Amino acid sequence: MQLIWHPSPNFGDRREGLVPQWIVLHYTAMDSAGEALERLCDPQAEVSAHYLIGSDGMLWQMVDEPCRAWHAGAGQWQGLDDVNSRSIGIELDNRGNHPFAEPQMAVLEAMLPQIMERWSIPAEGVIGHSDSAPGRKFDPGPRFDWARLVRQGLAVPRHRDH
Ligand SMILES: [Zn+2]
Repeated sequence: MQLIWHPSPNFGDRREGLVPQWIVLHYTAMDSAGEALERLCDPQAEVSAHYLIGSDGMLWQMVDEPCRAWHAGAGQWQGLDDVNSRSIGIELDNRGNHPFAEPQMAVLEAMLPQIMERWSIPAEGVIGHSDSAPGRKFDPGPRFDWARLVRQGLAVPRHRDH
């Protein structure tokens, strides 16, 4: 798994000494990973994520894990807000209306256990953006194969009506 460091200026400190307790999965809803990378590193856009995985399995890191990336926006999970201060954000290069590519899923499955181990995040802590911002966000969406992650102990079954 080759990681390309592509720093984004869009990050800050986690508030109140918080550490990651969730991993939030997203789709980019853009036409290419290059386009997404540009946006996630554009100071005007004021968005970022820790990682971006291309459909071909290319892996970019934009923000250091101890820092607070700007991927989740308003929302909450388990009654707690400031999702960005409590999570690692992973963007998946996908427009949202088609299957997630095999090389991309393989890289995600290889990196999730490492992040979970590093921060002691249980399978329950691997969530979708739509879980923390229901009604406002729909990613990673109905095409994302949650069952595949569940089978490997990398997520838990959860009812999602979207
Ligand atoms: Zn998202």
